[in-house]
Formats: sequence, C-alpha cells, structure tokens
Amino acid sequence: MKAAIFEQANKPLTIEDVDIIDPRPGEVLVRTSCSGVCHSDLHFIDGLWQLPMPCVLGHEAAGVVEAIGDGVSYVAPGDRVIMSFRPFCGKCYYCLGGRPNLCNSPEHGQQSASRLTWKGKPILQFANVGSFAEMMVTSENGVVKIPEDMPMAEAALIGCGVMTGVGAALYTADVPGGATVAVIGCGGIGLNIIQGCRIAGAARIIAIDIIDSKLDLAKRFGATHTINSKQTDDLEGAIRELTQGMGVEYAFEAIGVPAAATQAFNITRAGGTTVVVGMHPMGSSISVPGPAFLQEKKLIGCMYGSTRFREHMPKLIDLFLQGKLDLTSLVSRRMKLDGVNEAFRAMKAGEVARSVLEISN
Ligand SMILES: [Zn+2]
Ligand SMILES: [Zn+2]
Repeated sequence: MKAAIFEQANKPLTIEDVDIIDPRPGEVLVRTSCSGVCHSDLHFIDGLWQLPMPCVLGHEAAGVVEAIGDGVSYVAPGDRVIMSFRPFCGKCYYCLGGRPNLCNSPEHGQQSASRLTWKGKPILQFANVGSFAEMMVTSENGVVKIPEDMPMAEAALIGCGVMTGVGAALYTADVPGGATVAVIGCGGIGLNIIQGCRIAGAARIIAIDIIDSKLDLAKRFGATHTINSKQTDDLEGAIRELTQGMGVEYAFEAIGVPAAATQAFNITRAGGTTVVVGMHPMGSSISVPGPAFLQEKKLIGCMYGSTRFREHMPKLIDLFLQGKLDLTSLVSRRMKLDGVNEAFRAMKAGEVARSVLEISN
C-alpha cells in the first residue's frame, strides 16, 4: 500500500510503498477513507516532539473495515468506523475508573504497534492509527462504528480535533449553561471548544487569536465576542471590560504555547477553571502566579476531551446530523494523500481550519 513516510524532522514526507500485516487476533484492518491533518502531527514534523523514525503519521481518520482478526465481534467487514488514537484495554485502573482516555496499557503502546514494514524493517504506525496511509491496523478497541449517512471527511475530524475540542468543553470542563468563557487560539481545536461551549449553552464566548480571519470563523462557530490579541497590549483589561471586571469562569488554552496558558490562567476569575488543551513542547513549563490559588482558581489538563469515545463520538454524530455541530465548515480543503506536505504548509500559514486527505473511496 501507499503511505506517507516521516523520516526526519523538518523534511517533507515522502509517499512510499509500505507493507501492512494482516490483522492479528483482536485487531481490525481498516481502509482509510479520509484523514484530517492535525497540529499534533506537525509538532513531530517540526521536531518539538520526538518519535521513533521512520514512521507513518496521521491520527484523525475514518475508514471502512476491510478484514477482522480472530475473536473480533464489535465490527464486521464493510462497517464504517472512526479511528481512536487511544484504544482502551478495558481492564486497567483508568479504564475501570471510567477514564479510558487515560488508558496507558502497554498492549496498545508503541512496542505493540509494529504493524508496518518498510524496506524490510518494522516501522511505527503513529498513535495506533497512522492514517497517512491507504490501510491501518488497530485493536478492535480502537474503533467506533458510525452510521451510513455520516460523511467520511466530517467523521474523520471527530477522531481527534472535534472530540478533543468539543469534549474539552462538555466533558473536561463540564461548562454549565449561561457560563462566561474565553478560548485562546482559534485553530482546529479552539473552534471546536467554542462550539462545544455553544452546545453547552454558554452565554458569553470570547474568542482570542492574532489572525482576524480565524476570529471571523470563530463567530461562525459560536463566539459572541472576539479579541485580536495582537491589537491589544492589555488582554486582561479587555477581558475585564467584557466580564464586569471579574474575568471568565472558564478559560481554554488551545495553542500549546506556555505564555498563552499563563494568559488563560490570568483571565480566569476567582473560583474559575483554566483548561490547558494545547499540546505543549517537550521540556516546556507553564508559569502561573502562586497567590492566585488562594482564590481557588483551578488549572487542569485535557487529554482527548476526556472522552469515553464509544459513548461520546456517536453523540457528536447525532449533534452533527441534527445540524447542531458544524463539521463541514471545518473542512477548508480536500486533497489526496500526496497533498500532505501542502496541507502542513497551509496549517503553518494559518490558512485553514483543517485540510482533509481523501485517501480512498
Ligand atoms: Zn490531533
Ligand atoms: Zn486501560
């Protein structure tokens, strides 16, 4: 099969012939229909995060089950599925505690994932997905079935960005109706946090970014107010003005830049919650003023929108099919597998919410 190989940081991916194993017991082989191109992949390409290389990136995908291994009962060939980059083992401390998004079972770790071979050597399939490829093999616990009327490009986006962003609002922060919130960063994740807050019934949703076109998009996804933080040197003051001097109840950081996380914390009111959703560089630290904790401010993290994906992804599909969740406006461009480098360039330039690779029909 064809796959885009990542061999070295800061170098373009190359399309190569790669071999993929038949599904082992408990595994499924999925033909990739669509893959989103997510910022997390870019972190590896830019060298901010490290992976064993060469490998196949891509972790936001939907496809059709082609074959199943022994003992698989959840899906059958022909079923349409979204891939999860956090398959659950179903028996560890986190899975049994209802937090499968934190499952760290070695069964699904990098060592178990040698399902691809290139030039005679096993290579990594990133995050149990590796969707910049025509085929993927994963655990049956790494897929969720989706209905026939769900379009595949939109379904793919639920696999990472949408679930992470909407989930950050609905499940990590549990934003209540009437809340006042701010979202720093209006890329793929930020826009989904914004629409998650809208679905939760937040009354004031303040979108913050440095690019006006992204702020316009943010309004479309539910922002009630926007701030271009490049045009103000007093973000905290601007937020106070919009919140009767109090700051916001929930602030989300969706860029992965430590200074932005500090800002998010500083615009959160006493008793409020700051949620760090961005993927921060390895070795980085976030600095916040210690005395603020006497105001009972909470600083919390977010992994995959705290999703229990077999429960939550079908709910997002329902919301989409009812017109309450906008996935179509997120799809800025559609291209083939060989457009992957161009997709990363466009993402870096801030030109797109999401590029979607249409890999097979
Ligand atoms: Zn992602
Ligand atoms: Zn587990």
